[in-house]
Amino acid sequence: MGQVRFKALTEVLNRKPVEIHREENLVSDYFGMLVFNQPKMKKYLSKEAYKAVTDAIENGTTINRKMADQVAQGMKTWAIENGATHYTHWFHPLTDGTAEKHDAFIVHGADGSVIESFSGNLLAQQEPDASSFPSGGIRQTFEARGYTAWDPTSPAFISETTLTIPTIFISYTGEALDYKTPLLRAISAVDKAATAVCQYFDKNVTSVHTNLGWEQEYFLIDEALFIARPDLVLTGRTLMGHAASKDQQLDDHYFSSIPTRANRFMQDVENEAYKLGIPLKTRHNEVAPNQFEFAPIYEEANLANDHNQLIMDIMQKIARRHNFRVLFHEKPFKGINGSGKHNNWSLETNTGVNLFSPGKNPKSNLQFLTFVVNALKAVHDGQDLLRASILTASNTHRLGANEAPPSILSVFLGTEVSNMLDLMEEAVVDRKMTPDEKTALKLNIGRIPEIILDSTDRNRTSPFAFTGNRFEFRAVGSSANNASALIVLNALVANQLQKFQVAVDALIEKNVKKDEAIFQVLKDLIIQSKPIRFNGDGYSEDWVKEAAKRGLTNIKNVPDSLEAYNRPEFKNMFLKLEIFNDSEIHGRVEVEYEKFIMKIQIESRVLADMALNHIVPIAIEYQTMLLENVRNMKEVFTAEEFKEFATNRIDLIKEIGMHISAIKTLRKEMIEARKSANVIIDAVSKAKAYDTLVKPYLEEIREHIDKLELIVDDEKWPLPKYRELLFTR
Ligand code: ADP
Ligand code: MG
Repeated sequence: MGQVRFKALTEVLNRKPVEIHREENLVSDYFGMLVFNQPKMKKYLSKEAYKAVTDAIENGTTINRKMADQVAQGMKTWAIENGATHYTHWFHPLTDGTAEKHDAFIVHGADGSVIESFSGNLLAQQEPDASSFPSGGIRQTFEARGYTAWDPTSPAFISETTLTIPTIFISYTGEALDYKTPLLRAISAVDKAATAVCQYFDKNVTSVHTNLGWEQEYFLIDEALFIARPDLVLTGRTLMGHAASKDQQLDDHYFSSIPTRANRFMQDVENEAYKLGIPLKTRHNEVAPNQFEFAPIYEEANLANDHNQLIMDIMQKIARRHNFRVLFHEKPFKGINGSGKHNNWSLETNTGVNLFSPGKNPKSNLQFLTFVVNALKAVHDGQDLLRASILTASNTHRLGANEAPPSILSVFLGTEVSNMLDLMEEAVVDRKMTPDEKTALKLNIGRIPEIILDSTDRNRTSPFAFTGNRFEFRAVGSSANNASALIVLNALVANQLQKFQVAVDALIEKNVKKDEAIFQVLKDLIIQSKPIRFNGDGYSEDWVKEAAKRGLTNIKNVPDSLEAYNRPEFKNMFLKLEIFNDSEIHGRVEVEYEKFIMKIQIESRVLADMALNHIVPIAIEYQTMLLENVRNMKEVFTAEEFKEFATNRIDLIKEIGMHISAIKTLRKEMIEARKSANVIIDAVSKAKAYDTLVKPYLEEIREHIDKLELIVDDEKWPLPKYRELLFTR
């Protein structure tokens, strides 16, 4: 066995269970102990400062410098009492992951001494050396520097010994360089649009916030095996590896008992999460071997997304303690399930009403239907943009594979809500209903809650499913920043709600009664958005054909998909809602193209190296062994016997030779393809060249390597195999 592989497997066999710290207190006793949350603010801030912060959180008011100074003092005192020595602004640049730069609290005191200090200025704003973060050219065009600014709506927390302050990250000219800034803008856009529409139903609604409940899927791989796989280390996925004889065929992993090592890891993660106020609720095995999921109780979307980024970071750190590595890649292993991050999304009013939850009376149910139908229309019209928000180099491997949502956007509503919409569509004839029809409709609308509670139909093949009181966007990738999807989803829904309001108001102007006007507009929307509704099997071949007939798009590659951002209708929408300006859209799309190019480039390089350094030499070694064997046979056997015994051996030698040559030829061709792509200046053309000219080689070369894996002596194979990566725990 290859030495590295042998050592790695030995190490795994000798693993001792890691002892974990078990909290003796109830979770409710220590939940949020490391968060500067409202109770702590109350204790550490003056009444004035406390009010300034809560006003900022609740009403979006700004906090002046004097108040910021007071808040900074309170935060510092609390943080130092809890072991913090440093502070950092923490933000979501347009990379995978978050960014932070720690500074100690110390400043010079008298006589060469130092004292701990932290000011409102430092809390409110900082200027990280930002030149190395992707901006898609925004900083070159405008101003080289960028700065971070405190987001008081997401509370500061202590991470190890650092007071961590969630911030936005923008250029000096105000362009967003991160995910959080446009997310906050999109949340605000939907707030305004939804609040206005709620006025038709309830005058007490003054604000609407977005909720997000994410479900984070991931793989846990033993660290020793991980390190023995340069492809996993450098790209997050296996670029080669033949399927194990057994993987998920028996469905024996999903929801089965959690392996002890994984369970301890999860307990450790939960423990940390609770201290940081992350309400992790659910843990279970996923479908693929060594694949798992964490899900919290849903929270306000901005906070929930911070918590998701934070938990991904915590999981990676804690995994090391347990000699694991976490894989967040959407498709680390060919042929078995990949990982997603379902986004459970809903809108909630300040009066505590979930707008996607059927109400108790016809009026609140009309409100419910209004929001469902508008969401439906938003997804229908924005299908290409939604796809662009989630399709990445890594997520393309997952989408459309037999276990993951297809790259065709569709909405599952369940039979009951679907029937309801059908009924509304038929009921409003000639734009006027008879009193009987109205009564019937109202009766039916009134019955929705019972129906939905009774209804058990669930559809796991839909990329966008209504699940009783929320929509679940299932196409989001496991490694993604949820904001990318949420910005687009909220923008589309805000935009649609605005159009809805304009249409309803126009009818009211013409003396149509309010309810009637709402019905009429909803009917139009129901008809227009019909193609996007699909309750059947999203994995089936028939659906691909049916969707094409309906005119739904099915774009599977990143470069084409990204073009949606620049389509005038979407661009104008972003501008109008003030979520992105022109250069922000341009910059963001540029960054996405760049990321795509880089990811394929890195994979291509890693594969080329491994093919040459890891695989070919071993194949040659084994081939030489066989040749030796044949030569010896010739000495021992008669010509007749030799023919009988050596023929298949010679065939094998030829087969190995064929794969080696193919690998070498394809490798050369791939490098040439890269060279020709690299000279292209324009990012879009370059990304397309990488997609169509370079990327296909990854699969082609892999096939030869995977064939060799089956042939070559297991004793010699240098890389941990799928069965070892996936079944050691
Ligand atoms: P599943 O059956 O799809 O695995 P779960 O019951 O585990 O779903 O819930 C998935 C996520 O949906 C959780 O984070 C949960 O808090 C969240 N969720 C539940 N209700 C809502 C809602 N109204 N809005 C947003 N998220 C919600
Ligand atoms: Mg779910």
